[in-house]
Amino acid sequence: MPFSNLGLCDPIVKAIEEQGYKTPTPIQKQAIPIILSGKDLIATAQTGTGKTASFVLPMLEKFNQDRTLRGKRIRALILTPTRELAVQVEASVAQYSKHLNLSSMAIYGGVDAEAQKERLIEGVDILVATPGRLLDLAHQRALHFDELEVLVLDEADRMVDMGFIGDIEKIIDRLPDARQNLLFSATMNPGVQHLANSFADSKMSEAA
Ligand code: AMP
Repeated sequence: MPFSNLGLCDPIVKAIEEQGYKTPTPIQKQAIPIILSGKDLIATAQTGTGKTASFVLPMLEKFNQDRTLRGKRIRALILTPTRELAVQVEASVAQYSKHLNLSSMAIYGGVDAEAQKERLIEGVDILVATPGRLLDLAHQRALHFDELEVLVLDEADRMVDMGFIGDIEKIIDRLPDARQNLLFSATMNPGVQHLANSFADSKMSEAA
């Protein structure tokens, strides 16, 4: 099955083809239609399965379809456990959205926050972040989540292992209730289940 059968627009399919992808991976086949339908998703998926594209591609499709002017507000927040993964996921977002008019950036600790704040003022559609720096910048009122549509927790089990549950819950408290929640984890354990449960009152489907 080609990517074009998954309901993705030509500029996205073109970007994927330029990456050399021929067919969707199993997680992509399962997750993309669910995410496009607007449902929440809890998915077990290892690194290397193509999980990043499985949540980024449908997000781009939906944002590209609805281009209502939203000012400079963040539409998607992708939380990752590490700076390296944040950089890698943002690079994928940038690749897949290269033919679309959508912007992305990664924020993470260990570097000066001022440059990140300046870039945020310009506005960004898709923000990839590690939890600690995100909360720092939120406390400094450098982030506005009132137009947020999608929250992704990537490698949720690693975030739990690294002790980020409290930070993630504080972040979720700042987000609008009416949003789509996507959780990806290599393993399911009580900590991850706890996070999934904090997506209370949302419908869930399982993939992979
Ligand atoms: P991930 O599991 O998201 O870390 O992706 C693992 C690797 O697979 C990355 O290098 C992606 O560029 C690549 N990839 C993702 N989807 C596909 C696909 N449908 N066909 C070929 N390679 C892919």
